Amino acid sequence: MKLLPVKKEILKDMTSQEIREKFVKYFRSRGHKEIPSASLVPENDPTVLFTTAGMHPLVPYLMGENHPEGRRLCNIQKCLRTDDIEEVGDNTHNTFFEMLGYWSLGDYWKKESIKMSWEFFTKIMGLDSRKISVTVFEGNEDIPKDSESAEIWEKEIGIPKDKIYFLPMQENFWGPIGEIGPCGPCSEMFYETDLPKCGENCNPACDCGRYVEIGNNVFMEYEKKESRITNHESQVKNNEKYEYVVLKQKNVDVGLGFERLVMIKQNKNNIFETDLFQPIVDKIKNLEIENGDLSKEQKNKSEKIIADHLRAVSFIMGDDKGVGPSNVDQGYVVRKLIRRAIRHGKILGIEKVFLFKIAETVIENYKSVYPELERNKDFIIEQLVKEEEKFRETLERGLKELKKIYGTAIGGVDPENLPKGMVIQNNVMRADGKRIFHIYETYGLPVEMSQEIMKEWGIAFDEQTIKEAKEELKKHQELSRAGAAGKFKGGLADAGEETIKLHTAAHLLLESLRRILGDHIYQKGSNITAERLRFDFSHPKKLTDEEKRKVEDLVNEQIQKNLPVNCEEISLEEAKKINAMGVFENKYGEKVKVYTIGEGDNIFSREICGGPHVKNTSELSKFKIKKEQSSSAGVRRIKGVLE
Ligand code: ATP
Ligand code: MG
Repeated sequence: MKLLPVKKEILKDMTSQEIREKFVKYFRSRGHKEIPSASLVPENDPTVLFTTAGMHPLVPYLMGENHPEGRRLCNIQKCLRTDDIEEVGDNTHNTFFEMLGYWSLGDYWKKESIKMSWEFFTKIMGLDSRKISVTVFEGNEDIPKDSESAEIWEKEIGIPKDKIYFLPMQENFWGPIGEIGPCGPCSEMFYETDLPKCGENCNPACDCGRYVEIGNNVFMEYEKKESRITNHESQVKNNEKYEYVVLKQKNVDVGLGFERLVMIKQNKNNIFETDLFQPIVDKIKNLEIENGDLSKEQKNKSEKIIADHLRAVSFIMGDDKGVGPSNVDQGYVVRKLIRRAIRHGKILGIEKVFLFKIAETVIENYKSVYPELERNKDFIIEQLVKEEEKFRETLERGLKELKKIYGTAIGGVDPENLPKGMVIQNNVMRADGKRIFHIYETYGLPVEMSQEIMKEWGIAFDEQTIKEAKEELKKHQELSRAGAAGKFKGGLADAGEETIKLHTAAHLLLESLRRILGDHIYQKGSNITAERLRFDFSHPKKLTDEEKRKVEDLVNEQIQKNLPVNCEEISLEEAKKINAMGVFENKYGEKVKVYTIGEGDNIFSREICGGPHVKNTSELSKFKIKKEQSSSAGVRRIKGVLE
C-alpha cells in the first residue's frame, strides 16, 4: 500500500464536521462501505444496556456471518459507557462519545490496518507523527506476544523503538464482551500532550493525562470458548473453564476517539473546549450565578459534568426508542445522569429548572448530524422538565428537613448541647449516619446530597457517617427481607418518592382486596417502580369490573381519610398477636418492622414490612387499577398507578 504525502492545508484547525467528512472519505477511498450508526440502546441484546463501541452491533459478523455490505466497513458510532461516569470531568472522558470505526471482516490483516490508522492520523489529519507512541501485547502463558504488530510499527511505519511499549493482557488484549466470544491482542495509539511526564516511568499505560489514547486496533484472532475438554487438563489453557481457539475468520476492529481527535486538531487541552462542546458549556456559563467561594477547579468540573451528562441523556432519549428516566435499566442511567447534573447545577448556583435549556443547545449543535435528536426534541424536553421539577421538589423537602435538624449546627456546635442528628464518637463530632439515612428514606434526599449540603454548612459529615448510613440501609433491607421477602428491593439509589407512595398503596390494596374478596387473599409477590405497582395475590378467578371498582374505591377512601402511617419494631410474636399480615417463617425472637395505616379505632391495615412508606395516606393521589390478569394458577396480578 502506498502512503499519501502530507498536504499543507491540513495543518490548520479543522471543524468537527470536516473531520467527520475526511474520515469517511478516506476509508471509503480504501474500499470501506459506510454503515449507519446503530442505536445507542442495543437491539436484542439483554447483556448490555448501551452500545459501548462501534464493534458491538457488528458482533454477529465478527463471528462469521456475512455482512450485506461486504468485508470492509466503516462508520461513526454513538457510544455510551456508564463505567466512565466517574472519569467525566477529566480532559478526555465522556459518558456519551462518538467512535470512528473501521473493520475488516476476514479481509485485510494487521499490516494494512495499522498503515491505514497511521495514514489517517498523520497524513489526512496532519497530527505530528513524533508525538505518537503505540502499545502492543506482550504475551502470556496462553497467547504469544504480538511481535507481528511490533514489527509493522517499527519497520513499516518507522516508529522509534522507544515509542513502542509492550503491555500485559489487562492493557492490551481486547474482549470478549461477555464471558465468551471473539477477542485478541490490540495495539493502541497515543498522542503526547503538552502536560509534563508525571515521573520517570510515565508511559502510555499511565493515567496522568500526558498520553491520550486516540485509537485502538483490535486483532480478533481468537474465540474464547467454554472449555469442552476439561478432563484433559493438559490441553486446557488459562483455566479449566475456558480455552482460546484460533478463529477461522480473522477480523480487524479499529476504534478511534472522535472527541479526542477533534480536541487535538483544534489545539485544545480538553474535549470540552472543542466545537462539539463549546456552545453547550457557554450555555451553562450563561446560567450560572457568580460565587466567589467556588474554586475554579470545582466550577470547571461541574460545568464539564453538566455538559457531558446533558449530551448523554439527550442522545439516549433522542434515540427513537422512547427511553425516559425511570428506575430500571437504561432509564435508571438517564435518571442518575439527570440527578447528577442537577446537583452540579446547584453547585453553580442554578436554582431554576434549566436542564432542558442545555438539551436545546445540545440538539441544536448536533441535529444536522443526528436528525433523530430534532425528531424527538419534544420528548426529550418534556421528560427533562418533568424529572427536574420532581427531583427539585424532593431536594427541597429533604433540605427543609435537614435544616430543621441541623439548622442550629450551622456556624458551630456546642458539644455540651449536642443537636439531635449529631454524635460524638472517639472525641470526634459528626453527623449521625442513621439520621441521614432516615432523611433519605422518608424524603428521598440522596445521602451524597446531604453530604454535599452539609459540607457547605461546615458540618462534619465524614466517612463514618456514610458508613453508618449504609449500615442502616443494609439493616433496613434485612428487615425488609425478613418482613416480606422480595417485596421491596429498594437500594439507596431507587427508593424514590413515587416508589414509596406506590409501596404504601400496595398495603392499602392488599387490605382492600381482603375486605372486598375475602380472607383467602394473600400477597404472592410485588414489584414496584416509580411508575406503577405490580401486585400478585391468591385468588381463583378473574375480578369483575364491579369488584375492581369497589377495591379502587376502598383504597381511595383510605387516601381521603388522611390516615397516619406508623412504624414500630417489635418481635415476631408480638406482630402475630396484633394480626399483622406478612411472612412468618422467621427465626424465633427476631425483630420485625410493622407498618400500621390508621390509628385508634380507625386502623385499616397492619403489615410486617421493611418500608419505607409515606407518613400519611394524604400524600397519595388517586389510585387506579390499570390491568387485572392471571399471573399463574390461582394467582392474579394487578397493575396499578397513582394518578
Ligand atoms: P481509555 O483507556 O482512555 O478509557 P479505552 O481503552 O477504554 O480508552 P477503547 O475501548 O479502546 O478505549 O475505545 C476506542 C477509542 O475510543 C479510544 O482509543 C478512545 O480514543 C475513545 N474513547 C474510549 N472511551 C472514551 C470515553 N469515555 N470518552 C471519549 N472517548 C473515548
Ligand atoms: Mg476506558
